[in-house]
Amino acid sequence: MVVGHVALPDPEAVGESLIKVAEATPPVDLTRVVLLWNGLRVTECDLRGEGYILDLEGFGGEIVVRKASKETRKRYTIAHELGHWVLHKCAGINLSGQVGTERIAVERRCDRFAASLLIPKKEVLRHLRMPQRNAVASLMGSGPDVYKVSEHAFYIRMAELASATIHVLRESQSRFRLVKTYSASPLEAANMVDWSLLLPYVQGPAQRLLDLGDGTPTLFTWSNVQRNDNRVRWVLATMPASSLATGIDVFSDYRA
Ligand SMILES: [Zn+2]
Repeated sequence: MVVGHVALPDPEAVGESLIKVAEATPPVDLTRVVLLWNGLRVTECDLRGEGYILDLEGFGGEIVVRKASKETRKRYTIAHELGHWVLHKCAGINLSGQVGTERIAVERRCDRFAASLLIPKKEVLRHLRMPQRNAVASLMGSGPDVYKVSEHAFYIRMAELASATIHVLRESQSRFRLVKTYSASPLEAANMVDWSLLLPYVQGPAQRLLDLGDGTPTLFTWSNVQRNDNRVRWVLATMPASSLATGIDVFSDYRA
């Protein structure tokens, strides 16, 4: 991606190296990352929007976030604004002022950077390779808490990293309602099986390896979660077993 004739740095690679230098582990402590730059600071204010970043010229920069927002939202905003800071420092891209397609490209890059910083690819893959029973299903339920991100941010990232299709359902008046589907492949999402029929019979977290008829082993996971809002939701996910690294014994509980 090129903005103003400048190639933008790869957000995954930059996120990964910053995590390494800051010696941060999930949930990534963004203060450690911010401290990598002299004069860069974060302040909280009463804002209408979620936040912005200011260039303090020779004195560093200031990321301003909305005080009243949820912790997960603040973390996302800080990570996104850090993306603008990195583009500014590494590629000379102004902190603001882009228009049209350049603006879209920069914003998208900052979103990707935020995802790579908050939900590091290496960490997710390490989790997916854990040999423990039902490890993938557990991650599907606990991931937003493990990484201190919103469910929305986590499932988008999982859909991307594990080629997963994820359905979040809630129960209301004894019926299961599909809240949202996340998928790297819109076609897969459209062809979803009505897994909600299974819900009264399953306890999570659990996972099974299935052959859905096309000869490709698919890992099916489910978990029920209850967060601060006290509402129970079910997270059902399918992902090709091939998207999990070799070495994971996804077959272990299938055989049991
Ligand atoms: Zn932005």
